[in-house]
Amino acid sequence: MPLWAWTSTIILSSKINLKLSYLLWVVVFFLHIPPLLIAALRDAPQPDERDPYLAPRRAMIDRDLRARGIKNERILTVMAALPRQLFVPDNLRAYAYDDRPLPIGDGQTISQPYVVALMSELLGLKPTDKVLEIGTGSGYQTAVLARLAASVTSIEILASLSERAKKVLDQLNFKNIELKIGDGFYGWEERGPFDAILVTAAAPRIPEPLWRQLREGGRLVMPLGDQTKSQRLIRATKTGGQALIEDLSEVLFVPLRGAVERPAR
Ligand code: SAH
Repeated sequence: MPLWAWTSTIILSSKINLKLSYLLWVVVFFLHIPPLLIAALRDAPQPDERDPYLAPRRAMIDRDLRARGIKNERILTVMAALPRQLFVPDNLRAYAYDDRPLPIGDGQTISQPYVVALMSELLGLKPTDKVLEIGTGSGYQTAVLARLAASVTSIEILASLSERAKKVLDQLNFKNIELKIGDGFYGWEERGPFDAILVTAAAPRIPEPLWRQLREGGRLVMPLGDQTKSQRLIRATKTGGQALIEDLSEVLFVPLRGAVERPAR
């Protein structure tokens, strides 16, 4: 139960005089303000006007996100402050704010900004949410999620990519991200249940362990379908233990490797 509700219950059930109880309620109510302010400042660090990437980043926000229908202001604020150029290889930095995927080594790609924003929006994150991401890749999507939610656990099958992502995320001082190297098919039982799960590689079905680790009311977003062609971006919401599936758009992702490639038993 939140603090204000406790206070109201105590006030209602006690016999302290009305003025005092009102004062107490006001004090407790304002105790909620500092954490909210801290969250707002965390979402919107002051832009450095000398940053050469500031203009291309702002252009990306207006041209590729806002104009294409991304409405969530928290996501736009977070992406307007996150240096995407640090997540791409040095020789591709000039293209960091183009709306297209870029190679990040080992045959993998960093998702295009619009798709990152869209998937983040579909997860409907609250600042208190616990998120699981499968496919850390460059770590850019991980960073966006970490600024929107309370914590992110991200699993990557390729050690080289996970290690590189860790360096960038440490450099940016993220404290609410935990990276793991392994097959994301199995999720991470001990860290669950999760409020939201994002799979950033394509698979023909929802990995069963991930579905189990999603809490009731939780959302799972992933590209579903044939791994050699384009896939459908879906959102599955756990309602009464059942999956409520929304088919959202056509997307093109690299395949999810490992256990999901073997037939389900
Ligand atoms: N969100 C990343 C997308 C990377 S592409 C970004 O924007 O940078 C998908 C990633 O999923 C790749 O890095 C790939 O290596 C990883 N991947 C593929 N199969 C996986 C599996 N079974 N478990 C965890 N990661 C996997």
